[in-house]
Amino acid sequence: MTQTAALTVQQTARPHGFPTAAHFAFMESPVPVPTEGTALVENLYLSVDPYHRELMDEGGWDLDTPLEGRAIGRVTASRDPGLREGDLVFHREGWRTHALVTLGTQGTRKITAYEGVPLSAHLSILGGTGLTAYVALTRTAGLKPGDDLFVSAAAGGVGTATGRIARLLGAGRIIGSAGSPAKVEHLTRNLGFDAAFDYHDGPVAGQLALAAPDGIDVYVDNVGGDHLEGAISALRDHGRIAWVGAISQYNSTSAQPPAAPRNLFEIVDKSLRLEGVLVRNYTDVQGELEDFLVPHLQSGQIAPDETVVEGFERTVDAFLGMLRGENTGKMVVRIAD
Ligand code: NAP
Repeated sequence: MTQTAALTVQQTARPHGFPTAAHFAFMESPVPVPTEGTALVENLYLSVDPYHRELMDEGGWDLDTPLEGRAIGRVTASRDPGLREGDLVFHREGWRTHALVTLGTQGTRKITAYEGVPLSAHLSILGGTGLTAYVALTRTAGLKPGDDLFVSAAAGGVGTATGRIARLLGAGRIIGSAGSPAKVEHLTRNLGFDAAFDYHDGPVAGQLALAAPDGIDVYVDNVGGDHLEGAISALRDHGRIAWVGAISQYNSTSAQPPAAPRNLFEIVDKSLRLEGVLVRNYTDVQGELEDFLVPHLQSGQIAPDETVVEGFERTVDAFLGMLRGENTGKMVVRIAD
């Protein structure tokens, strides 16, 4: 059935602290028509991400304008010589039902529908989420077989991918932190974590010391603040920190920088290495990620961890829910089959 109306989500106001649905509006417009060099894509899945919260602040997304975001969709009409009707593509014109794209710009690339692997995996473990985890472990932290690992926000998208990939790479003990007893149980029961704790149950440093009494070699930090401080204390000499994100700070209303970590000088004492990870610097590793993971996904040795919210009209709910921790694995929105 040919659709005549396209929907976009637009941001209408800047939040102070935690955003709400009132900061967004759904807008209807005619389905765009491809111009020379572009193709029309009907989106199938959208990604909602913590970095979108940063884009909501001054200097980020323009107000009252369709929003960017990672998406996968199917080409339904094309005037781009590189794209044909029916092609599946990844692109960054998300948070809308239809997009005009050009191959090679705004990250637009064709994707492969691997047999036995859900298409949504291209937004989770085979997408930027998995790539972040993979480069954090292989490039930034240089994880070696037997290394003991701690990962925060462990039950989320990057966190679950980090646990899965670290296990495949031969990590030693894997320890995770998460925000509820159910997530802690999920990590140890279903995802192969050796230990996990709820960061609401007490100071991170104390809980990590109990979960990893002999210390850790690598920390993949999705949270920042107290988590980073606790990990610095737990790291052994020559340990490595891959700093991926600081979700504990994205909704802060304080003008002051966070108090923690207060133990940065331990980085010198223990010859630690701390390095930031920005996935957009590693797009050349995408093929390596797929070569590495697809056989494990197809054999069932690992699975994509996802929370799939049904319906474009629930995009904002999915985004706010992800910020509140309602997801396990990567939060994605399914628009169509
Ligand atoms: P995610 O972990 O799937 O979802 C966010 C999770 O953060 C929630 O499920 C929630 O889980 C947790 N959270 C929310 N508020 C928190 C708080 N105050 N303290 C501790 N945890 C909190 O999201 P993701 O997409 O995988 O991203 C994870 C991190 O990686 C984010 O910091 C993100 O910015 C970063 N990232 C960075 C890059 C890069 O290129 N550098 C790329 C992708 C992602 P709980 O229930 O456990 O609290």
